[in-house]
Amino acid sequence: MDEEGITLRQDIDKRIRLVLDHGRYILGPEVGELEEKLAAYVGVKHCIGVSSGTDALIIALMALGIQPGDEIITTPFSFFSTVEAILLLGAKPVFIDIDKKTYNIDPQNIESAISKKTKAIIPVSLYGQPSDFKEINKFGNSYKIPIIEDGAQSFGSRHHGERSCSLSTIGTTSFFPSKPLGCYGDGGACFTNDDLLAKRMREISIHGQNQRYAHNQIGLNGRLDTIQATILLAKLKFFEKEVIARERIGKKYTNLLQEKGFSETPFISQENTSVYAQYTVKVQNRSRIVDLLKDKGIPTSIHYPILLSDQKALKKTNKLILPKIFQREVYKAYSLDQANYATKEVLSLPMHPLLTQDDQNLVINSLIDINKSIN
Ligand SMILES: *Cc1c(COP(=O)(O)O)cnc(C)c1O
Repeated sequence: MDEEGITLRQDIDKRIRLVLDHGRYILGPEVGELEEKLAAYVGVKHCIGVSSGTDALIIALMALGIQPGDEIITTPFSFFSTVEAILLLGAKPVFIDIDKKTYNIDPQNIESAISKKTKAIIPVSLYGQPSDFKEINKFGNSYKIPIIEDGAQSFGSRHHGERSCSLSTIGTTSFFPSKPLGCYGDGGACFTNDDLLAKRMREISIHGQNQRYAHNQIGLNGRLDTIQATILLAKLKFFEKEVIARERIGKKYTNLLQEKGFSETPFISQENTSVYAQYTVKVQNRSRIVDLLKDKGIPTSIHYPILLSDQKALKKTNKLILPKIFQREVYKAYSLDQANYATKEVLSLPMHPLLTQDDQNLVINSLIDINKSIN
């Protein structure tokens, strides 16, 4: 461990001991302190700490009053939570295709997917890069449709200088350990500038309570633990440094790979920065490349191998959880050509803010050699 690592460890140990001393494990003072710091970091009025990135999405949708049968426009190319939250509320995901270069939803596909039933749009800021909110918000404003940014992978990144999670009606994020800002268990947050939505989201995260044992609405047990909050407070001090390190390592991957003639590197559009939650390239003969990299001790992963619209769970949702009257169409999907190509070609390389130069060079050289030998 380097010096910074030791300092962080000592700080976390001390902080956990303090929580054990005061004993307020649920909604202790650290939660409020963290919420204030996160809201300031993101640049919004309100932050509500919640139990996970998935619950953050559910809470956001509930606060918007999403009802069974409502349509939510979203991407088919994301982690399952994005669609799970929609389906749990009985709403209908409407999948539109992604942009070939950024893998985020292509704003050009939004307008034709809007119907009278459209009650929200959930763009995902995939791999660490914000979706094109400047364009997406135009539709939100003209059709009066709220927009939830699923910022589980993009916390810390920027779009036109503004932070992810401040870019739309509500921003949600996850503090799952492997996310850009990770805690040591499950955690997440909702962000908004809207006072009423903030109040609703806070209530929903505490069983819909506005005061003890008085329940205004149906909610869930969706709070962020005090221990996770205090760990995040310790890690937040180093976070901006990690954001910078992530950007440096991501850019270095791109520069070195391109120098060596590999051009299918991530495209970060000019108005964005990325925190490279994943460093994801595009390859042909992916499964061979995965195997050969694995032989060299280099782990990779595929985000994501199956489109959300192709998940078995969506084929079954009808019978399992939806009341009969909603047993019509579980989801709607427009042409998803780009998303389909993406599932077959994307490959995520090892990426984290402490990746050493040697390790990174090994990954780059191995990928170049393997790619040349088989493609
Ligand atoms: C990780 C992730 C989530 C879910 O976050 P959890 O904290 O694991 O519930 C949601 N959306 C995306 C895009 C994610 O990557």
